Amino acid sequence: EKVNRIIREEMNAIGGQEILLSAFQPKERWQKTGRWESMKDIMYQFHDHSARDLGLAATHEEALAEIATQTIFSYKDLPLFVYQIQTKFRDEPRAKSGLIRGREFLMKDLYSFHRDEQDLGAFYEKADAAYRNIFSRCGLSFYVTEASGGTFTKEFTHEYQVLADAGEDWTLYCAACGYAQNKEVSSLAAGDPCPKCKKKIQMARSIEVGNIFKLGTKFSEAFGLLYANEFGIKKPVWMGSYGIGPGRLMGTIVEVSHDAKGVFWPDVVAPFSVHLLIIKTKDEKAARGVEKAADALYQTLLAKGVEVLYDDRADKTAGEKFADSDLIGIPWRVVLSANTLSKKCVEVKRRNEKEARIMTQKEFLAHILPRKAK
Ligand code: ATP
Ligand code: MG
Repeated sequence: EKVNRIIREEMNAIGGQEILLSAFQPKERWQKTGRWESMKDIMYQFHDHSARDLGLAATHEEALAEIATQTIFSYKDLPLFVYQIQTKFRDEPRAKSGLIRGREFLMKDLYSFHRDEQDLGAFYEKADAAYRNIFSRCGLSFYVTEASGGTFTKEFTHEYQVLADAGEDWTLYCAACGYAQNKEVSSLAAGDPCPKCKKKIQMARSIEVGNIFKLGTKFSEAFGLLYANEFGIKKPVWMGSYGIGPGRLMGTIVEVSHDAKGVFWPDVVAPFSVHLLIIKTKDEKAARGVEKAADALYQTLLAKGVEVLYDDRADKTAGEKFADSDLIGIPWRVVLSANTLSKKCVEVKRRNEKEARIMTQKEFLAHILPRKAK
């Protein structure tokens, strides 16, 4: 949801309106573009009890082009930008890496509608800027690569690739100027001079977290999606589509931000800010004291709007709690034990730092609250 919130903010900022479409797709709609056939390896297709042919949407260009014929009539209805964060289905032959490639996965897909190529081009640039913001805000370094348009377009599309060994793509990139191409379309090799700045091109495995396409008029022509211009002349609508996989994005953050023990969530997308741990004590009276102090700190943090995961499990050892905390990767770990309580302090550790620090609750709050306000 935190990743989705960042995506929504950036999509709304470029004029996106949020919608939600059905995953069910009628065969007749997809036959109009020939993709019922051409995508049959990847699209789940079946029929229901009344022998109707149905598919599960692997993407939504057809659905949006068809719906747009009921809302776009005139140049006054353009441009239009709609998006959704919705479940897609693809019969992926190599679904293996959990969130990174699933057969059922979330996609943010935005579709844009324009009166001409120039307006599409101008919006494409804005979408590119919004995408750069999204990935930067999620704490990722990435390359914007020129890539193939696949079945959509002969022009280059642009992919957002994060270098990571777990990736299935190869990116050729220049670390000096940022120029990059997907190996699939590149005539470059590692060691070649960069066509832009002449520094050395490198090659590495990468994960595609997003992809933007100029669709041209292919879909609008298939669905008769026309608009009347100022002179009443009918013209085909120009379209673009813009995808991000929020689940794959989450998986990618983990791939580039972890150690042997678990995840380091960047603050902005961490499910909680603070992981509060009680360490149990044999002495019953001391144990009750620790519990009371931890409950109070939990309430204080909640009251200040800090998101806290509270590990008050009575049946787990300190070792088990520390291991789980490292695995889950919440940015701040705060420990309360008989020992810290005797010093009137808490033990605080950032997930990505080695050393824990002993400080008063007040000092800890001062540390964390300015971060929250950012
Ligand atoms: P890939 O080449 O990795 O199969 P794609 O180019 O087919 O992906 P798009 O159609 O461009 O994917 O989808 C938009 C975005 O949706 C991708 O950039 C990716 O972040 C995400 N995505 C695509 N397929 C999957 C999947 N199987 N599991 C999770 N996320 C996915
Ligand atoms: Mg793609």
